[in-house]
Amino acid sequence: MSIDQLRSVRGMRDILSKDESRWEWVRTLASETARRLGFSRIDVPAVEFVDVFDRSIGADSDIVSKELFLVKQKEGKEDRPMALRPEFTAGIVRAYIQNSLAQESGAKRLYTWGPVWRYDRPQKGRYRELWQFDAEIMGTSSPSADAWIIYLAWKILQDLGLQNINVQLNSLGNEESRAVFQKKVQTYFKPHATKLCEIDQRRLQNNPLRLLDSKDDAVQALLEDAPQALDCLDKDSKAFFTQVLSFLDDYGVEYSLNPHIVRGLDYYTHTAFEVVSTFGGSEGSALAGGGRYDGLAQLLGGKKASGVGMAIGLDRVVLELIDQKVKVPDLHFGCEVFLIHLSPRGRKKAQEVLTNLHAGGLVTLHSPDKDSFRAQLKAADKAGAKYTIIIGETEAKNDMCIIRDMKSGIQEDAMCSDVVSLLANRLRRTR
Ligand code: AMP
Repeated sequence: MSIDQLRSVRGMRDILSKDESRWEWVRTLASETARRLGFSRIDVPAVEFVDVFDRSIGADSDIVSKELFLVKQKEGKEDRPMALRPEFTAGIVRAYIQNSLAQESGAKRLYTWGPVWRYDRPQKGRYRELWQFDAEIMGTSSPSADAWIIYLAWKILQDLGLQNINVQLNSLGNEESRAVFQKKVQTYFKPHATKLCEIDQRRLQNNPLRLLDSKDDAVQALLEDAPQALDCLDKDSKAFFTQVLSFLDDYGVEYSLNPHIVRGLDYYTHTAFEVVSTFGGSEGSALAGGGRYDGLAQLLGGKKASGVGMAIGLDRVVLELIDQKVKVPDLHFGCEVFLIHLSPRGRKKAQEVLTNLHAGGLVTLHSPDKDSFRAQLKAADKAGAKYTIIIGETEAKNDMCIIRDMKSGIQEDAMCSDVVSLLANRLRRTR
């Protein structure tokens, strides 16, 4: 393979250590916020059978029909096609059914994060391997769960220090209201059918709500006067949506209504939302999206189970942190202690002390392959060590060592057994 061919796959990136502080902070803060709101972690496989996505997201959705990464299988081994997950919800609902989580008491609040894969056209903020933070509440049809999920997405983005974050909401209502809306959309688009591309014509026939997600110019031009879901809500659906809004008011979430958010996936009912950033006058870069999916478990062959969920696009959040110049804490562990040995016996002792320092939680390095004092001191300097511990033949014999403060150059003798508590105390003061 030539060096030109040695490159990552289009739309897939390396995230290098220099950017890792930002990523680690986002993932840690999101996970901690979720745990504080009563969510626990679930991990689902990166690969599922294609019919999990077919049945849930829908075979004629862009995600399934065009963007799935199919997994090549060993010949004759498995004839059910498999694919890399393009999102988390379908896999989590599959896991919920397969593991009978509904039988455990109470609603299940679950979160996860990781990469998902979509064969999309790559550009800034749009990748083929993208990272999502996902949260789902399964087993409750209460509007408070919709508000809780939105509150979680909003709180994470707020706590990250992002400005101009706006929650945009819509409601498709229950299945009856959704059916009324679907009929109206079909009736509205029918006279314009010849203007639509082939895929959209098929959608008009089979799943008219998908049209509202279409990026095609012909559809976009017609959207302005298209029927709106909120006008089709029946009494119960209206009451449900009003309660969601009232809970959001209680949680202090700022939101606005946006009739264009429909999320044409087959399983959405009631609440649909996006969280966008309008920083720098942008017309709204989508950082997160989600909604209620009461029909999904049944579509997958399980018993009826209500659910509501959301996914935050982590790549976009990281780009937004950079655009908004948010200062993030440096999570990189600087070297605190560097061990220097001056003889074979000193090296043995140094390794013993090193293990104790690690057990005491101190960031400690050692170059056991170097013997010269100068070379080891240079390595300690390069690593930015705050202290070095020097152990020669005599020190090792007496269970002693020399502690050197790298900034002041001051040296002192200490017992090896005292070193951990002594340095831990000093370093804690400066950490
Ligand atoms: P979705 O699952 O399509 O609702 O997407 C949830 C979030 O993931 C979006 O709001 C975006 O922030 C992010 N996202 C979706 N597609 C991509 C992509 N191709 N590249 C990067 N981020 C994406």
